[in-house]
Amino acid sequence: MKLAKKTLFENSKNTQSIMADFCNKCAPEMWGPDTPADIDILQIVENLEYDTYVPCICEGCGLLGIGKDEDGNPQLAVLDPTRERTAEGIPVNWMNYEEFMALPSKI
Ligand SMILES: [Zn+2]
Repeated sequence: MKLAKKTLFENSKNTQSIMADFCNKCAPEMWGPDTPADIDILQIVENLEYDTYVPCICEGCGLLGIGKDEDGNPQLAVLDPTRERTAEGIPVNWMNYEEFMALPSKI
C-alpha cells in the first residue's frame, strides 16, 4: 500500500464523515435505494487532497477511513475482524472502490 497517511483532512466540508453514519454502500441497504448516504465516499474522495485520508465510521460495514492515493483513486480502510485490535492500532484492510463495493453486505 503506497497511500501516505500524512495529512488528516478535517475541514468543514468533511466534518460529517467523522460521525458514525452509513456509507453509500450501506445506506441504500438500510433505508432503500433512494436514500442519500451519510458518508458519500466518492464525494469525500473528490474533496480530499492527493495522498491523504479522512477517518470515518460506517455503522454498517466497518469502513474506518477514506483515502485518495497519488493517482486520485479512492482507497478504503475496512475493519479486519480476523485480527485482534492492539495498543498499536486497529487492523484494517485497504482496498480500492471496486473491491469495497464488492464486499458482501453485513446488514
Ligand atoms: Zn458502510
